[in-house]
Amino acid sequence: MDQELKAEMKRLTALGLHQRCVEGGLEKAAALTLEINRLKKEKKAVICAHVYQTPDIILGVGDLVGDSYKLADDCRRTAADVIVFCGVHFMAETAKILNPGKKVLVPSSNAGCSLSESITGEDVRKLKAEHPGAPVVTYINTSAEVKAESDCIVTSANAEKILRRVYEKSDKVIFVPDRFMGANLAKALGKTPGKDIILWKGTCIVHEQFNPELIKVYRKNHPGLAVLAHAECPSDLIAAVDFMGGTGDMMRYVENTDASGYLLVTECGFGELAKLRFPKKNFIAMCRLCPYMKSITLESVLAALRDPSYPEVTVPADIAAKAKVAIDRMFELAA
Ligand code: SF4
Repeated sequence: MDQELKAEMKRLTALGLHQRCVEGGLEKAAALTLEINRLKKEKKAVICAHVYQTPDIILGVGDLVGDSYKLADDCRRTAADVIVFCGVHFMAETAKILNPGKKVLVPSSNAGCSLSESITGEDVRKLKAEHPGAPVVTYINTSAEVKAESDCIVTSANAEKILRRVYEKSDKVIFVPDRFMGANLAKALGKTPGKDIILWKGTCIVHEQFNPELIKVYRKNHPGLAVLAHAECPSDLIAAVDFMGGTGDMMRYVENTDASGYLLVTECGFGELAKLRFPKKNFIAMCRLCPYMKSITLESVLAALRDPSYPEVTVPADIAAKAKVAIDRMFELAA
């Protein structure tokens, strides 16, 4: 076997990738990561990897790793010429809006998002007409067109903080598109849905599926279990957990606590990463796969990097300019 390939297999093994989530075996993964990392240098590319991606992508080739807030923030400072976004399309659009001069690629044509697809710019215009003067606070899981109709963008990492700031100046806010996250935030802020927080009907097809009844079973079987759930989960489930937040907050919670076990109620990729980062901690599986996130593989990353005519992410200049104002407002209010 080629020495370079042997060395790459050793590197991946040291990262813990020999144990899990390497489809087709370590040798195949090493051949792919070797070539992707070589092409990255040649093309001055950076790979952004969301925490719901598989560990072979995150650890094998990822340069910027995190939740949607961290990736958007990190993208603002990259010196790369090409951004390969291993996440979903709305995230890549945000990267393009923040880096109009760079080439942005998503290595899958199926990397959508049920939340993003639940609402259009026209829907937001109608909501604004129905609730004149109410600021539109929009979850980052939306298209550039929807962001362009918004006053401020939020992520699960900063939504509560930013909404508190917005409510200092407004009695009523339009929050789109996640109705579960909106209801969870309304509860945390003491607001009434339909009165002082206007919600949309969008849901995440991954987080809406979790059953709160199962949490009781897990707690009974694992005394001392810490239950963490993503803010996109329905409110009856959130009522049964110890911590609600975005994935960045959940990872910090795991890092800074010492529970006998952790039940992570979110997409499976997050649990895989947590296990690799904290191998001595005990994780209980209760997760679902996001088909959009998992449509990206090492093979598709390599194909996108190799192909000079691979379709780029584009955002019309007028929409990008308006969306950027709302995204910049997030960075300002989240700081
Ligand atoms: S996990 Fe849910 S919110 Fe995230 S990309 Fe998948 S469908 Fe969208």
